[in-house]
Amino acid sequence: MIGGSTKVCLILGYPLKHTRSPLMHNAAFAALAMDYAYIPLEVKPEGLSAVIQALRGMENFGGANVTVPHKVQVMEYLDGWSQEAEAIGAVNTLYKIGGELWGENTDGRGFIASLREEVDFLPQGKRVMLLGAGGAARAVIQALVWEGAEKIYLVNRTLQKAQGLASSLRKKTGRPSLVPMGFDDPLFPARLQECHLLVNSTSVGLSGDDPPLFDYRLLPSRLLVYDLIYDPELTPLLRTAQERGCSTFNGLGMLVYQGAFSFEIWTQRPPPVEKMREAVKAIV
Ligand code: NAP
Repeated sequence: MIGGSTKVCLILGYPLKHTRSPLMHNAAFAALAMDYAYIPLEVKPEGLSAVIQALRGMENFGGANVTVPHKVQVMEYLDGWSQEAEAIGAVNTLYKIGGELWGENTDGRGFIASLREEVDFLPQGKRVMLLGAGGAARAVIQALVWEGAEKIYLVNRTLQKAQGLASSLRKKTGRPSLVPMGFDDPLFPARLQECHLLVNSTSVGLSGDDPPLFDYRLLPSRLLVYDLIYDPELTPLLRTAQERGCSTFNGLGMLVYQGAFSFEIWTQRPPPVEKMREAVKAIV
């Protein structure tokens, strides 16, 4: 129950009608009988600076998540951020240290935890094909590089974006094993065959009308296919992958684990991951 001593956590984004984070975090607080509440705050880009300034003056601030479209812009208004957020170039979690407002990014860690805990897959020494070069892709690639993936093919509709991402990561990490490609690259089918893991981090599949990214019948049956999309639960990519005999996972696990890491940062308590998963699954 919300009372005078309740700490308030927020999610800042626009729009937020479909966010599952309030359900997930309020379920976690309830499970641990913590006097916290998690509330959506719809903020347009032009309002972000004022809202961040207001958080500085909020004494019962418990922490916040930041989502589309603010993950990059919010960094302008913070006092600092972690190495992980710096490497990814975006922030999805806010917390206070003393009077300062700091940023963290838990998306990459959330993806890796989902792979490890739910899929029993360790990226060390593996070959991965990642589709997309947007915000989610940046977090996933950075995490895969840190986890020691042997080779990552970055495939994007706009090839220049994949090239830019690969070259900036190469400079930062010194790893030459990032190969940008277009979907129309004649080597695409052969590269796909040599991979252990395929990750879709494009928004293709969110709507049932989206044309496929490539001919999904090319998927080899031993491939593990992970789609960051969780609504719909089964995208056309995952459906065809299942028909081909591949193991498939949607992005619900990543959602839960990125939230679990945020929860831990705010409360310093072990997150009740299963309760959080039950809460978000209940509305899939
Ligand atoms: P974003 O920054 O807008 O990037 C979108 C990506 O999708 C770009 O690479 C874009 O290619 C590609 N794309 C869009 N429409 C396309 C089309 N018709 N054909 C080919 N490629 C297309 O978005 P984001 O924040 O990275 O999010 C991407 C997806 O990940 C979303 O579906 C989001 O829901 C999901 N996500 C899930 C989680 C989770 O916790 N499970 C977390 C974050 C994001 P171009 O560069 O060519 O435009």
